[in-house]
Amino acid sequence: MSFALSPQTVRGEAVVAAASSLVETFAQRAQAADAANQVSRENFDELIERRVTSAFVPVELGGFGLESIHDWILTIATLARGDASTAIALNMHLVVSRGMVQAYTDAKARLGADHPTTDGLAQLLGRLVTGEMLICATATEPGTDNLHPFTEAVRDGDHADSGWRINGRKIFVTLSPIATHLAMNLRLRDADGDHLASVLLPMNTPGMTPQDDWDALGMRSSGSQSVLFEDVRVPLPDLHKLGPWGRWSVGNLQSRALANLPLVGAFLGIAEAAHDTALAHLATQSRLGQPASENSGVRHVVAEMALELGQCRAVLGAAALQMDDYFARHAPAESVATMEDAHRLMLDYQVAKWTVNRGAIEIVSKAMDLLGGSGYTNSHVLARLYRDVRAGPFMQPFGATELREYVGKVTLGMWPDQ
Ligand SMILES: Cc1cc2nc3c(=O)[nH]c(=O)nc-3n(C[C@H](O)[C@H](O)[C@H](O)COP(=O)(O)OP(=O)(O)OC[C@H]3O[C@@H](n4cnc5c(N)ncnc54)[C@H](O)[C@@H]3O)c2cc1C
Repeated sequence: MSFALSPQTVRGEAVVAAASSLVETFAQRAQAADAANQVSRENFDELIERRVTSAFVPVELGGFGLESIHDWILTIATLARGDASTAIALNMHLVVSRGMVQAYTDAKARLGADHPTTDGLAQLLGRLVTGEMLICATATEPGTDNLHPFTEAVRDGDHADSGWRINGRKIFVTLSPIATHLAMNLRLRDADGDHLASVLLPMNTPGMTPQDDWDALGMRSSGSQSVLFEDVRVPLPDLHKLGPWGRWSVGNLQSRALANLPLVGAFLGIAEAAHDTALAHLATQSRLGQPASENSGVRHVVAEMALELGQCRAVLGAAALQMDDYFARHAPAESVATMEDAHRLMLDYQVAKWTVNRGAIEIVSKAMDLLGGSGYTNSHVLARLYRDVRAGPFMQPFGATELREYVGKVTLGMWPDQ
């Protein structure tokens, strides 16, 4: 098929092969997980066993040593062909674990492999390999956007060594029912200003209460419940400043584009599954002795699906390669990115997001036209794909009503800082 994505690196090829080996099993479990409205623990046990959850962990520490963002996206797209809920949940874990690997690599280069800090980070990565750490990530809250979290950390007392107390509420915390840890952004105000910060917390931290309230139209087995934080106490060094609260920074633009482009891969995977489901169905269909493939109406709808799928793959593949190139050019030792550079990266992600999210909805809908009523029954895979694919445009940044405003501004050279 046109513009089909294929791995760009040897390590990526190994991760994608591991993901491919699970697609059929995930597809078989997906209907039951969707009906039960629960994350498939078995899927994650197998992802851990095949080391897909430790894809970014260096080879010497037991992972695949994946570096290519393109191949990360292809891994997510591949898994989504079987179960998109599992694919988006895995993506949240991979986003955080990639950051942990980056911290380890930086410490190793700066301090040496034998330094206690490097060793501590290596041990943490070991817990990703064994599956002792499975991490969800959240930036979303009601009544605000990701740049302006209301969840806030305040100092817990006046002593120099007193820690933080966190209060707030996060929604859409995908993977959280089976996660061991949660990473989130929050607000931190101190004498230096008003900051966006991040923290990684064990799920059993006192004061953190998952709400068991996920019951949605689609992505039902993604476990995207909300989580309440009431006087959650955190040691002083555990909070990390990310940039100014309420303003885009180079780092924040880069990390949001990086975390979310692979998520677009999940919606490509859904479209591919719908496309293949429709073609497999058509191969068995005839009316009054005439095979479905000989009907011109059928052929035109098939052609439109193929055209849209080619566009989605081409744009996402190009954005993925550009992102790999961007991070190679702006590696810490190379040139430092400017706000303009980072907005251009965000813009490319938006183009891919718009193209794939909308294209995938169209493709699944056309697959539904081709199957007719049989695809509309709840027991049919297409009914689940039809519901799952609709989640794509909601994903921030940017939602369906905000994306064009952002793209318009950047195209006009306005480089918005909030
Ligand atoms: C299945 C699923 C899984 C997700 N998983 C995660 C996750 O793991 N971690 C995470 O952090 N997030 C996650 N999200 C959240 C996602 O990224 C979005 O942040 C979230 O869906 C946005 O909230 P919303 O859908 O209510 O829409 P919003 O973007 O909050 O807005 C909804 C609508 O409000 C209206 N509106 C009202 N006032 C305004 C205004 N001033 N400006 C713009 N629009 C306005 C618009 O019509 C807009 O479209 C997930 C979402 C889904 C659906």
